[in-house]
Amino acid sequence: MARNGKKSLYDEAMETFHRAAELIKMQPRVRMEIEEPDFEHVFHITAEIHDRLVPLSTEEQAQFKDLPPSDVKAGDALELLANGSYILHRRALLEADLTMRQGVINIPKVGLLKLEKGGPRKFRAYRIQHNNVRGPYKGGIRYHKEASLDLFKVLAADMTWKTAIAEVPFGGAKGGIKFDPFQYSKEEIEQISLRYFYKMKSLVGPYVDIPAPDVGTNGAIMAYFMRQYTDGEREKHHLRGVVTGKDVRIGGSEGRVKATGQGVVYCIEEWARDKGFDLKGARVLVQGFGNVGSNAAEILAALGAKVVGVNDVHGTVAKDSGLDMAALVHHVHQDPTNLRRTVAGFPGGTAIPKDDFWDIDADILVPAALGEEITGPVAERLKVKLVAEGANGPTTREGDAVMAARRIDVIPDIICNAGGVTVSYYEWLQNLRLEHWTEGEVNRRLEQAIKKNYAIIRDISRNRPQRTPLYDSRPFCVGEAVDIRTASMILALKRIEAHYLLEGFSQ
Ligand code: NAD
Repeated sequence: MARNGKKSLYDEAMETFHRAAELIKMQPRVRMEIEEPDFEHVFHITAEIHDRLVPLSTEEQAQFKDLPPSDVKAGDALELLANGSYILHRRALLEADLTMRQGVINIPKVGLLKLEKGGPRKFRAYRIQHNNVRGPYKGGIRYHKEASLDLFKVLAADMTWKTAIAEVPFGGAKGGIKFDPFQYSKEEIEQISLRYFYKMKSLVGPYVDIPAPDVGTNGAIMAYFMRQYTDGEREKHHLRGVVTGKDVRIGGSEGRVKATGQGVVYCIEEWARDKGFDLKGARVLVQGFGNVGSNAAEILAALGAKVVGVNDVHGTVAKDSGLDMAALVHHVHQDPTNLRRTVAGFPGGTAIPKDDFWDIDADILVPAALGEEITGPVAERLKVKLVAEGANGPTTREGDAVMAARRIDVIPDIICNAGGVTVSYYEWLQNLRLEHWTEGEVNRRLEQAIKKNYAIIRDISRNRPQRTPLYDSRPFCVGEAVDIRTASMILALKRIEAHYLLEGFSQ
């Protein structure tokens, strides 16, 4: 709905839906049913936050120059946060010899720190259940400071389209908490996560709504969720499928951590095969080096591509002959001192401003960070042949129009990053059957699913209905060529609409 003459993010995102619904002449009531989320849960959670030790500013430091150093024996019990503050765990004071003045303490090799009071904090939390006509609601949990109802509605709808495109028997959902997890300790994140899932308990379940990791969450947080949901249940092992993206040792699937990045690469391989383009030596740019970006980059490098630039929220590194992926992954994800998990400071490349990242000469760009990064002006500058959308919604409408005019190919997010939810389905199946599949088995199924559905989308886009040994695109083509984003939506909507048309509406 228009507010102050400005369209909401959700309304904008739904434009492709409406375009595709027109083209397939979607039954009006079905269209009305799908265009709004089933449920929008917005609630608050509270948690107790520890006291913090915050570094003093340069001006403040002057008056504490003579403060004698304190001997904090349990020094490792001071937990460093990404913003430079420390959590004061009580065990840090065991056997400590302390001098504190006006709440300030001098810790050798750390500096002057001021005690800041913790206490209860309130957080806004969300779970949007968009549509479940094809199966239980399914979608990630995001912890991010810029979360909003509007954004979660967009992301939940995206999951409805994505699960239909990936042909997994799920619907769409998304949710999370508006906060910056980098500012909180491990223990606080556990408390916040447990409280969140406690409040969600009546909304989720292996046959109801199945969360997974997204930005700011990971397998460890899924483990908290699973524990919270199954605690005290008599048949708790049958309930493991309440979340996916778990560690393989507790019911996660082989290949799940890499799955989204792997799916991005299967799409790129299929694009390259169609175009007769050799991925060996291809120059690649990756934005975002978290789960999706780093895995896509590593797999592409293993295929012989050169990752010539990587940008994340804290920095950008570039190297014309290709960055060493193993070393960069180690720097970002395995170095315990790199608390912000950033590519910044990587010695194996040159640091450049983010603005220059878009100008790097390359063949393929994989945006794998957040939304709305490829705007019109950014798209004007790109020197790539293909944008493979690892992130959700990385391209704005203007960005799309510019790329179409400049003949830059796009693999839309709803197929490109569908690998994650596809392997989440395999994880869910393994949980229900108490099975454990090999990574080879997972990847074999994933490759077939992604490449088949991407090929159907391409046929819809080119209006080339055909039946091959692998797939049949005839029921989905609409008699005219359409852009690839609309083609993806047509595939999703035809599969969703079938349920309403064949099953009717429950009354
Ligand atoms: P993550 O939290 O592991 O990583 C996010 C990355 O983006 C980090 O490297 C961060 O530094 C970077 N980033 C954040 N803000 C940025 C900015 N303004 N500029 C540049 N870089 C920025 O998250 P993830 O799980 O890899 O997800 C990345 C994207 O992929 C998201 O859009 C997410 O919705 C989408 N996605 C993830 C999955 C999955 O399985 N994890 C599945 C489908 C889609």
